[in-house]
This record gives sequence, structure tokens and C-alpha cells, in this order.
Amino acid sequence: MQLRDFARDKHRRADDKPFGGGPGMVLMVEPIDRALKSVLGTKKKKTRVILTSARGTVFTQADARRLAKYDHVVFICGRYEGVDERVAEHLADEELSIGPYVLTGGELPALVMTDAIARQIPGVLGKGESLEEAHGSFPQYTRPEKYKKWKVPPVLLSGDHKKIAEWRKKGDRP
Ligand code: SAM
Repeated sequence: MQLRDFARDKHRRADDKPFGGGPGMVLMVEPIDRALKSVLGTKKKKTRVILTSARGTVFTQADARRLAKYDHVVFICGRYEGVDERVAEHLADEELSIGPYVLTGGELPALVMTDAIARQIPGVLGKGESLEEAHGSFPQYTRPEKYKKWKVPPVLLSGDHKKIAEWRKKGDRP
């Protein structure tokens, strides 16, 4: 299904010119409203509707953890000049941005957030990643111990797990 399938007019338009003038097209509220109803159905699942927006709150790891607790997370992806503001006001639960820059559409932000959220769902990752979740991101190395003149930090080869944990906590680089 695509957004145009939820348009009512004979040309199946999902966008129109902005009121007040200006360049480009704006995605219309009605097809988005109807598409959302179709996606959400009548099921009483715990759902969060996110509007991707360059003007939204910047998405963080804490948001990923929070959103992983929902049964459904639905992303509305803008295009062109954006989305009729009534979508943000009445249909979306929140507006999220992936950073202070403007992309062509909301699809990549939705994928980025989906990836970050999905890896918070128990069972999605192996236990190897749980350390990272607990302590944040840190540099990783694997064999060989020396490649060209580039060596692995000695502490990682020391077998001293306390020192290794401290080193990782600092996020040290050699
Ligand atoms: N003039 C619009 C504005 O100021 O919001 C820009 C629209 S942008 C070209 C088209 C769509 O891309 C937006 O509606 C939004 O869905 C998405 N988008 C662009 N940058 C984004 C960002 N940094 N984070 C999340 N979504 C973004």
C-alpha cells in the first residue's frame, strides 16, 4: 500500500500546494489520517505514532529504550516541503528528528530509529552487546594483536578484567 491509496479524489493526490504560498508540496492530513487508521486497525495494542521531522526533538538512546516498550511504533515519513501541521497536532504522539540537518524524506530517519529501537528488544541481540548497553559504547579490537605497526592496547591483553572494565568505561583510545 502507498499513501496515494488512501486519497479520496480521482487523481489520488496525497499532496498539495501550501496555503499562504511558497515552493514545493505538502503531504495532506486526510490520506495520512486514513492510512494510520488502516495500519492501527481496532486492536488495542500499546502504540506510539512518531512523526519524523527536522524540527522534532532529537532522538537519543533513552528514546530507543523508551519506545522499545511499545507493541507498535508507527513512523510517519514526510517528503517534499513536509507534512500538514495538523498531523503533528492531532495524529502523531510525538515529533522526532535524527539530527540538526534536513534530509529529503523521513524514510532514513525511520530506519535509523527502528534499528536503534529494535536492538533494545530482549532477544534481538546476543549477550555480547549487553555490556555495551550497560556501559555505553567503547573501542573494540580483534585479532591480530599487531597489524603493520598498529597494536591493540596492552590492557585488553592483560587478562585483568577490572582494569579492562575501567579502560572501557573511560572509552579510551590508544
Ligand atoms: N521544510 C521542512 C521542514 O522544515 O521541516 C523540511 C521537509 S524535509 C525536506 C522532508 C521530510 O524529511 C520531513 O517532513 C521529515 O519527515 C523528513 N526529515 C528531514 N530531515 C529530518 C531529520 N533531521 N530528522 C527526521 N526527519 C527528517
